Amino acid sequence: MDAKQLEALYGPGAQFSDNKPGDTITYRSGGREITDVILYVIAPAQHRGIIYVMTQPDPATSLPALCFPNERIEDPEPALYTCLKCGGMHTVGQGCPLA
Ligand SMILES: [Zn+2]
Repeated sequence: MDAKQLEALYGPGAQFSDNKPGDTITYRSGGREITDVILYVIAPAQHRGIIYVMTQPDPATSLPALCFPNERIEDPEPALYTCLKCGGMHTVGQGCPLA
């Protein structure tokens, strides 16, 4: 599905959200923890906030799984390692600024 089809199905996409399509998030659904990629972020409406449309279908309905931000499990703090070059602490993603 492209952006136009998603918009026709779910309504306008959110302009601002913590996570964007393509981001991977972990959330709780039906007692399970699911890690999946966001397909689309539905803009907030009058009585609700944004909703994440996930890539994998919900096994119960076979429709794209929906994730509400309050179901999200926050990402753990990125692991730090002690750098051999500068002696400082860096995250794996960040790497050493001196490297
Ligand atoms: Zn370093």
